[in-house]
Amino acid sequence: MNTKTIAANWKMHHGPDEARDFLEKLLPNLSTRKKPRILLFPPAISLQTVSAGIEECAEIELGIQNIHWEVEGAFTGEHSAAMAVSVGVRFVLIGHSERRHLFRESDSEVKDKVSTAIAAGLNPVVCVGETREERVQGSTESVIKRQLDSVLAEISVQAPKDMLLAYEPVWAIGTGMLPEAHEIEEAHSLIRNRMREKIGQEASLSTQILYGGSVNANNSEDLLKLKNVDGLLIGGASLDPLSFSKIIESAVSV
Ligand code: PEP
Repeated sequence: MNTKTIAANWKMHHGPDEARDFLEKLLPNLSTRKKPRILLFPPAISLQTVSAGIEECAEIELGIQNIHWEVEGAFTGEHSAAMAVSVGVRFVLIGHSERRHLFRESDSEVKDKVSTAIAAGLNPVVCVGETREERVQGSTESVIKRQLDSVLAEISVQAPKDMLLAYEPVWAIGTGMLPEAHEIEEAHSLIRNRMREKIGQEASLSTQILYGGSVNANNSEDLLKLKNVDGLLIGGASLDPLSFSKIIESAVSV
């Protein structure tokens, strides 16, 4: 697990034209040295543009920000896992805090989406993390375990080789606030240990755990040096090709 993963969650930014422009600026900036694995999660409407744009770059893979848990049906505005696969998507964000909090997605919906993703051949990137209130109340550990357990129960017999976990404290997302280094290491080792208990040593060691929340080009290298931090999930700082390429570069040197 030496190769770090650097993932960009563009959220509702970068339509097809901006996505094309982003790639035109990013790709020449990538060093020719060994690169980390790079995952791009554009909005669904830009998936095909990004898919075409990264064809020549094996280190960059495509992800979708959300899928529906049903295989198909009357779900206006939604996308199925199979549709994502058909345009070259290999990864899917599930349980992102914006989905859990703004769109009221429950642990049970998260679990169902994980199941549907795996059945369709997509690798879930499952996000977990506590709110500020939960941390202050001292329930960080129980919240992470609760979010994790419902997913791990679902995948115990079918953990995909390339599944990822992301620890994203809700209060650190888009706020410029970072947990202390030891708090990140504690959360990541909790996740690693819980995976070992629930899905076994092998799967727990092969599942990368990303940190997300206010990552930028100035803090990425230090974050990547922390124990059990196998990569980063980046929102705001991934929108600018220059800052994103600096973060990628910091993963090459770790
Ligand atoms: C995110 O939305 O997953 C995220 C980590 O956002 P930001 O980097 O902007 O905090």
